[in-house]
Amino acid sequence: MPKLFKKVLVANRGEIAIRIIRALHELEIEAVAVYSDADRGSSHISLADEAYPLGDPVASESYLNIPKIIEIAKRARVDAIHPGYGFLSENDEFAFACEELGLTFIGPSPEVMRLMGDKVASRETMVKAGVPVVPGTTEAIRSLPQAKKISQKLGYPIVVKASAGGGGKGMRVVSQEKELEKSLAAAGREAKAAFGDETVYIEKYLEGPHHIEIQILGDTQGKVIHLFERECSIQRRHQKVIEESPSPYIDDKLRGKICKVALQAAKAIKYTNAGTFEFLVDKKKNFYFLEMNTRMQVEHPITEMVTGVDIVKLQIKIAEGYPIPFKQKEIVQKGHAIECRIYAEDPLNNFLPSPGKILSYRIPQGPFVRLDSYLYLGCEIPIYYDPLIGKLCVWGASRKEAVHRLSRVLKEFVIQGIRTNLIFHRQVVQMKHFTQGKYDTHFIDEEFKTPKTKPSQPLRNMVLAAAAVDAYKKTKASLAFVQEEFHMSPWLREGRVESLRHFNRGVF
Ligand code: ADP
Repeated sequence: MPKLFKKVLVANRGEIAIRIIRALHELEIEAVAVYSDADRGSSHISLADEAYPLGDPVASESYLNIPKIIEIAKRARVDAIHPGYGFLSENDEFAFACEELGLTFIGPSPEVMRLMGDKVASRETMVKAGVPVVPGTTEAIRSLPQAKKISQKLGYPIVVKASAGGGGKGMRVVSQEKELEKSLAAAGREAKAAFGDETVYIEKYLEGPHHIEIQILGDTQGKVIHLFERECSIQRRHQKVIEESPSPYIDDKLRGKICKVALQAAKAIKYTNAGTFEFLVDKKKNFYFLEMNTRMQVEHPITEMVTGVDIVKLQIKIAEGYPIPFKQKEIVQKGHAIECRIYAEDPLNNFLPSPGKILSYRIPQGPFVRLDSYLYLGCEIPIYYDPLIGKLCVWGASRKEAVHRLSRVLKEFVIQGIRTNLIFHRQVVQMKHFTQGKYDTHFIDEEFKTPKTKPSQPLRNMVLAAAAVDAYKKTKASLAFVQEEFHMSPWLREGRVESLRHFNRGVF
């Protein structure tokens, strides 16, 4: 019998807390927010029906503090907890703790979370389920001779990875044997510091692969469906920055094959709720399981835009015990969606976080534009957490239309008071390889690298824009002068005097 939720606690912050609160309200469920001292003025609080303080901003004391969150859940008498992504979303102990108290954890079972959270164990499970995995070990590395033997067999370059890994932590690419010892130690150390587990394993490092992931949903009646793929190859330091759906790289035949394998994998582990199977696809279009995320993804909106399925609402309905209300064949990919992750970081200063106060902004609008964000006037972006401040998504009837729309909305978007990576996105979306949809996971590193002799054009454009601001501030030169000076930059060329006024205020 489905159990209808009346009240749900959202154990998260920022844009994703808001996304979940909106879904709850549309389902006429009350939303309970939690917030740290650093988020006292944050907009997820004002949207919720109740809000409880977590105190100390440090994540381990607030959004990662299981006893505190459980205590609040009991006090607020909620029926369930939605963990969002990050923080406690993949913490099986938290899911167990919820279960023990009779609270529903909106996600898969703790057992599946534990299994898939351990990358070594998940690779082994996938091999058993007949899923191709990236060539490498299905056991932990215990010694240097073992690591050497495996790496020689795979052939360099290889990558050492943390079994408990995530966010690129504990990952080291090794191109020659002499670097192996140092990299193993460094990866182990980093993994121990980040996850409290130093276990590492080895994979073949594929040359210029594509990151393709499949969105899965499973209900408690045993039905599993997929919502097709997302192309997530636009990455910086192995972290996604732009995602799109469908992938411009794969054809219907390959799409069908990968989706079928993802369903097979989900059924093998009796997966429930929303999850994502990540794959690497090589130049010969072989695909390999990379890892599974047992939670909602940051980039879920683009799947929602092309399939018309509200993933968060479905997560809640599944957790209540309802079956998935449609058949696989009813799901189609319509049109094309692209997402840019907007970060409070400074692309002109090695992408360092740029916390601070939002002094003013202009939100991009218009048809088929979606902005998931917690921005408001005067909003403080704290230093304590991930610098993601919003996700700008567009939909187009074709990829071409989506790219043009994205280019337009990125020009409209203005944020003042902090530095953001908007300037970086504006550069990326006008690059030939992006507009043509011909890129792989090395695209950003290649296009933005700083060779000793001559920096790449995109990098030059960004540096020029920064210099424009400085020059204008110093000389009080006329806007026309600045425009003239920086005619080199296609971004500025397309811009207007108004944009230059924004530069003058130090805003990108
Ligand atoms: P994390 O969980 O730390 O984010 P992943 O294993 O998901 O790490 O990998 C993140 C990204 O790193 C991938 O999308 C891909 O670009 C790159 N990567 C990871 N493993 C390999 C590999 N074996 N070969 C080539 N690139 C890889």
